[in-house]
Amino acid sequence: MTFQDTYRHPFLESGHKQLFIGGEWVDAISGETFACIDPSRGTASIQVSRGGAADIDAAVAAARTAFKGEWSKFKAFDRQALMLKLADAIDARFEDLARLETIDMGAPIARTSMFRRWIQQTFRYYAAQAVADTGDVFNNSVPGNFMSYSHREPLGVVGAIIPWNGPLITQLWSICPVLASGCTLVLKPAEEAPLSTLMLAGIMHDAGLPAGVINVVPGPGATAGAALAAHTGVDKVNFTGSTATGRRIIEASATNMKRVALELGGKSPDIVFADADLDVAATGAAMACFNNTGQVCFAGTRLFVERSIYNDFVERVAAVGSKLKVGLPLDGESQLGPLASQAQLDRVQHYFEVARNEGARLVTGGERLGGNLADGFFVAPTVYADVDMGMAIAREEIFGPVLSAIPFDTEEEAIELANATEYGLGGGVWSRDVGRVHRVAHGIRTGMVWTNCYGVTDPGVTFAGTKHSGYGVKGGPHHLNEFMISKTVWLNLA
Ligand code: NAD
Repeated sequence: MTFQDTYRHPFLESGHKQLFIGGEWVDAISGETFACIDPSRGTASIQVSRGGAADIDAAVAAARTAFKGEWSKFKAFDRQALMLKLADAIDARFEDLARLETIDMGAPIARTSMFRRWIQQTFRYYAAQAVADTGDVFNNSVPGNFMSYSHREPLGVVGAIIPWNGPLITQLWSICPVLASGCTLVLKPAEEAPLSTLMLAGIMHDAGLPAGVINVVPGPGATAGAALAAHTGVDKVNFTGSTATGRRIIEASATNMKRVALELGGKSPDIVFADADLDVAATGAAMACFNNTGQVCFAGTRLFVERSIYNDFVERVAAVGSKLKVGLPLDGESQLGPLASQAQLDRVQHYFEVARNEGARLVTGGERLGGNLADGFFVAPTVYADVDMGMAIAREEIFGPVLSAIPFDTEEEAIELANATEYGLGGGVWSRDVGRVHRVAHGIRTGMVWTNCYGVTDPGVTFAGTKHSGYGVKGGPHHLNEFMISKTVWLNLA
């Protein structure tokens, strides 16, 4: 197989990719398209219809029609059966899906192949949730003979706006609860990586998903995304992306008081005490930052290290980073791929410059990679030492494989430094002292803290942020309620 052949993919064989609205593939009303850029080569892989406000109108209308139509007659067990069928259909095409995601956004095939289990688990977890709701029966003390109960009804049309750093799995936080609850969906993927979302819609359609239940409109954030966020026919917006855009989503939601869930940016702290298992912690801390080439919302990008082990530990983390195989994403040996876009490459290179100007000490990395990677958006895993919280590289989200290492002296100081950020998504603590692990985990103001591990997720476990990292939970036993209205019914039994 030649290098070129490895980039062939059945989904990329013909024409351009269209929008998916009302169960049909259609061109954008404007007729416009945009190019999907393969970040490992910097070349276009295919053209995709560029959705705009008018296409969002059409998709919301299709979703509303579906919500009121045949889909509304699906009982909970019917929705569960459908979800299990869809999960099987997705599994049968999984390898193609993983390869497409790899070509589209650059995550190595070794990483996207691991999504198989997560996708199956997510569909099956929410399929179980679909039939688990029992409603509530209330005690009340009203004089007379009254009783009251509440039951939950699907909220309506959901709009989801997702980023490019892992759409194959990110979209499931909207698709699965929508299907389990009986809502319908208009999904706007990011322009940088819309392909796995389009392919998934096609697989689900072929497997029996009723028309209009899920609609996909790729397009620019400023037009298609903004139109979806402001649309008065949308009852809830699930947004995953940057904090700056999250603010605009909140403003746009005021048009009809729609519900909003926001999963935003982060600058997560990872705290290592001298009593930790340092071999395990060094690999853990390196991967907490470098995984997915640092393009992870909860990446542990601020590494706080107890001063007595600071220099040695920073060297260990840098050694792990410099040995990672950065390579072509379809090469099964590659551990890290390119950044997902030219814009992301420019952003990371800008921060290399900022770090130099701020006087941070470069321990490893800090450069774009050349050789057979020169055409793509590849950078080396990077560690800066002697960083302090006054530096921009310690405060601002870079969204690349760039780690800032900062020393601390006491547990209290570590917690204070960890919290000296506007963000509140993830965090890590490495120590053998059980009491300290819990104290620090409780002291960090974030939605999630991992102890002696980092970044473990499961659809059955709540995933959430706080502060400027957003609000609203994903996963876990309460997520489905965010897609339902609770209706209370009073009965006069007299
Ligand atoms: P972004 O906010 O620019 O884009 C995200 C999505 O929003 C894209 O689909 C984009 O087209 C759309 N968008 C842009 N402007 C819009 C507007 N005015 N109205 C409506 N939609 C608009 O974010 P990005 O820089 O592309 O993505 C990276 C960011 O996403 C990082 O900050 C990262 O932390 C965050 N992220 C968070 C999570 C999480 O779960 N917390 C997960 C992944 C990424």
